[in-house]
Amino acid sequence: MEVKITQAAPEKLKQKPTDESKLGFGGIFTDHFFIAEYSKGKGWHTASIEPYRPLTLDPAAMCLHYGQLIFEGMKTYRGKDDSIYLFRPDMNIARMNASAERLVMPPIDTGLFREGLKKLVLLEKDWIPHSSGTSLYIRPTMIATEKALGVHPSAEYYFYIILCPVGAYYAQGFSPTKIFVSEEYVRSVRGSIGACKAAGNYAASLYAAEQAKEMGYTQVLWLDAIEMKYVEEVGTSNIFFMIDDELVTPPLTGSILPGVTRDSVIQLARHWGINVSERPLSMDEILAAHAKGTIRDCFASGTAAIVSPVGQIYYKGKEFVINKGEIGKLTQRLYNEILQIQYGEKDDPFGWRVKIN
Ligand SMILES: *Cc1c(COP(=O)(O)O)cnc(C)c1O
Repeated sequence: MEVKITQAAPEKLKQKPTDESKLGFGGIFTDHFFIAEYSKGKGWHTASIEPYRPLTLDPAAMCLHYGQLIFEGMKTYRGKDDSIYLFRPDMNIARMNASAERLVMPPIDTGLFREGLKKLVLLEKDWIPHSSGTSLYIRPTMIATEKALGVHPSAEYYFYIILCPVGAYYAQGFSPTKIFVSEEYVRSVRGSIGACKAAGNYAASLYAAEQAKEMGYTQVLWLDAIEMKYVEEVGTSNIFFMIDDELVTPPLTGSILPGVTRDSVIQLARHWGINVSERPLSMDEILAAHAKGTIRDCFASGTAAIVSPVGQIYYKGKEFVINKGEIGKLTQRLYNEILQIQYGEKDDPFGWRVKIN
């Protein structure tokens, strides 16, 4: 299918941000977006890149009622020589299609996804910021658009991609976060849609996240919904603990999002000879290790931050300081390595980096 490109008139182009230290996250959008439409029987049709605009949706559009709404989160990076890179984009495409399958939404043709993404990023390449740690965030989204009430899969969808220039996550430096273990609320449960980037999961997480913020914590550490015993994720990131010489992260049992960064951390750590386990990790085990002083590192992983060090955990009314509240050696090493691979500053032994210009 041909991707038709309609460029915005030069006088309609937005002013690009001049101060890259004030980009923040998710508030600024570029001049164009990619959009494709799907109808049952016809499949994906009319794919185009157009000036960024509001969508036209019927108030009865099914995404607004029954939540068939999935998305992805990835980034494009500018190298020092103006090379433009994506990081493991095929994993995001595959994950989007896995989310689509679980929510009975149509898969997107991989070729169309790749082409739309690449053409859009290249058209908007001047929006990719230059300073260290900044990037252009990519948000592919699919929504159900059929005008109909009644719970059944929609017969029509939009798939679109929007872009935002984002600041360096650690503009103020790398600082350990305080996390709150929720004993009352859960993010997802085995058998539900926790492994999908589906909008409903984030709506379900807001209440506990607000509670944690009110108490002075940055994120919620989610426990498994069945026994409320095993750690699952932190906020919208995966979680890792280095206990003695073992790097532990919970296994992908259906309630956890299979992070691209999680996978990259596991591969890199193994490459460095670290013993990595994907296994259940209980709060009891964490507390016992804490008492023995064997927790050497704890961090969250995700596209936005790469890795984010955890300095303190609140659980059952008590605060547990991790690694004296300092950034762990492994956290720092992983951050540096992945960042340099993403920006083309280091060898890429795994073939993760995709140069698109
Ligand atoms: C996106 C996300 C992650 C991290 O995935 P990455 O592919 O590493 O960005 C982890 N957990 C949740 C709930 C997420 O939404």
